[in-house]
Parts: sequence; C-alpha cells; structure tokens
Amino acid sequence: MSQDIEHVKCLIIGSGPAGYTAAIYASRADLKPVMYTGMLAGGQLTQTTDVENFPGYPNGIMGPEMMEDFRKQAERLGTDIRFGYVSSVDFSSLPHKVVVDEVKTILADTVIVSTGASAKWLGLESEQKYSGFGVSACAVCDGFFFKGQDVAIVGAGDTAAEEATYLAKLARKVYMIVRRDEFRASKAMVHRVLNTPNIEILYNTETTEILGDGQSVTGVKVCNNVTNETTQLDVTGFFVAIGHKPNTDIFQGWLNMDSTGYIITRPGSTETNVEGVFCCGDAQDHIYRQAVTAAGTGCMAAIDAERYLAAKEHVVTA
Ligand code: NDP
Repeated sequence: MSQDIEHVKCLIIGSGPAGYTAAIYASRADLKPVMYTGMLAGGQLTQTTDVENFPGYPNGIMGPEMMEDFRKQAERLGTDIRFGYVSSVDFSSLPHKVVVDEVKTILADTVIVSTGASAKWLGLESEQKYSGFGVSACAVCDGFFFKGQDVAIVGAGDTAAEEATYLAKLARKVYMIVRRDEFRASKAMVHRVLNTPNIEILYNTETTEILGDGQSVTGVKVCNNVTNETTQLDVTGFFVAIGHKPNTDIFQGWLNMDSTGYIITRPGSTETNVEGVFCCGDAQDHIYRQAVTAAGTGCMAAIDAERYLAAKEHVVTA
C-alpha cells in the first residue's frame, strides 16, 4: 500500500464533545480510532468562555480548557488524533473511502461523523469582537450570566422565540430584534413570546453595531428599516438566534439529510442510511445542541460501531 492510503477500523471525523466522547469509548473498545479534528479543533466550545452546565465541573470551566481535557482523555486512552480536514468521502463500497486534505485516503471499516454545526452570525465586526464577552449564540449556555440584566436577542424563528422566553425567566428585560414585520416561528411559539411581559419586540429592526467598553457588551445600536430611525438599547448581553448550519456538505448525496442538512439517524440509534457510518452530535441534532447531549450521542456512536464490527466478525468467523 502506498503511504497515502491507510486502513483503519474506526475513523472519527470532527473533534467536539461528540467526537471526543466517541473516541474515548472506541479506544476503550479497542477499535484503535483515528480522529481527524477538522479546521476548528475542539469545535464550537473553543469559541465560548465559561461553561457551567457540563456535569463534573463543580466550579465551571472555560470552553477551550474543557475541550483540552476531552482531547487529553481521548489521547491517553489511545486515540490517534490528527489535525486535518476531510475533503470528500465515497461511501459506495466497503471499506469506506475518506479523503483528508485532498491528498490522503483513509479506508475505514466504520466512520463516525461528528462534524457538528456552526451558528450563523450577523457578520458584524463588533459581533465578532465581543463573541464570548456578552455576545452569544446559545441562550441555554450563557443566559445565566445575565441574570437580572437587560439583554437583546436577534431572530424570529422557533429558536429565537424559544430562547427569548428562556432568557425572559432570567433577565430583567429582553429586546427581541425582528427584521421583518412578522415572525417565522410557529404560532404557538409566537403566542408564548407575546404573552411574556418582559419581552419587547422590535419589528422591522436590524442590528447595526454591538457597543462595548473594550471588555464586554454595553449596548446595541439598531435601526428601523422602515423609518430609518436609529436607537440604542442598553443591554449587557446580545444573543444571536438566526439559525445554525450543520457541517455536513461533504456527505451530500451519501447520507440522508433533512432539508436543512441535518443528517438523519435511525431513531434511538446513531445509524445512518449507510452501513458502518454513524452520526452523533450537532450534525444530527437541531433540537438540543448541548455539549452534554452531543457527548451522549458520541458514546452511542462508538457503541454502535463496536457492535456493528463485532456482528460482522461473528458472521465471518461463524
Ligand atoms: P430559522 O431558519 O427557522 O429562523 C431563522 C430566523 O432568523 C428567521 O426569523 C430569520 O428572519 C432570522 N434571520 C436570519 N438571518 C438574519 C439576519 N441576518 N438578521 C436578522 N434576522 C435574521 O432557524 P431556527 O434556528 O429558528 O430554526 C431552525 C429549525 O429548527 C426550524 O425548522 C425550526 O422550526 C426548528 N426548531 C423547532 C423548535 C421547536 O419546535 N421547539 C425549536 C427550535 C427550532 P426571516 O424570518 O426574516 O427570514
């Protein structure tokens, strides 16, 4: 075999909580997993600050440090962790073919897809500047830090509606910034928002700048796109809830997905439509999107892969 082709029992694509947990379980099951981290090694949590809702850290932990702990644990148990980006796959026959960085081919008996999802952002420079310092794309993760304060949330879909009502329980006031004169969210969710007294909806409104003191958010500049009137909201938290994009483009045409690109797995399992390919974490979950739920499905994927290989071996040797 040439140096650029390698055969592995278990290939893990992606290095967030799902991928690392799959790696920990696959290593302990002696699947000798090889992991390719992707461009953002450690995943979405490396872009956050405090994580207080992951069990096992009584005093909370910084997101990047937590992912470093995940990595060390997977490595100590034997996962071969490599920095690299999967550029294409071919699931037409076994073993599966996966091309890394357009040059190296991995032949894999099992593939665990844990490529995650990326939050969509408005694209403002100030939004990037204060990301993790008052700007967040996850109310469930970060809402707690704004207890009793005034916050704003942008978006008008089900996620924004759900997160606005979640924030309203913690914050003193929630401004909901909606770019059109109506919501995209379902009627039931809109009803909930409209019936929450401390949510103020600003229709036809767009965010033009996140204001801060260099350390954290101090306000948001918004503009009414009908009247062109600009106003400033004095808030300390700014939540972006304009949707997520699952990182699944390379699996198009191979794995069954819903209309927005989330990979479809068999209910109660991580099996995809392709034999020997399993999917865990945010790449298949648009509902919970939490580190702990991703880790849970990562564990499931490794167990599913191990059982799949064991059953195949049994058939071959029987
Ligand atoms: P959606 O794509 O449904 O909604 C995105 C929202 O963000 C839209 O209101 C859109 O505005 C707005 N938006 C997009 N870009 C911008 C921008 N640049 N500036 C301002 N606003 C912007 O995403 P969701 O995450 O809300 O939902 C994804 C899927 O998950 C949906 O199918 C949803 O139903 C589902 N879901 C279901 C839940 C439930 O049932 N409990 C909970 C959460 C999600 P516009 O409307 O003008 O395009």
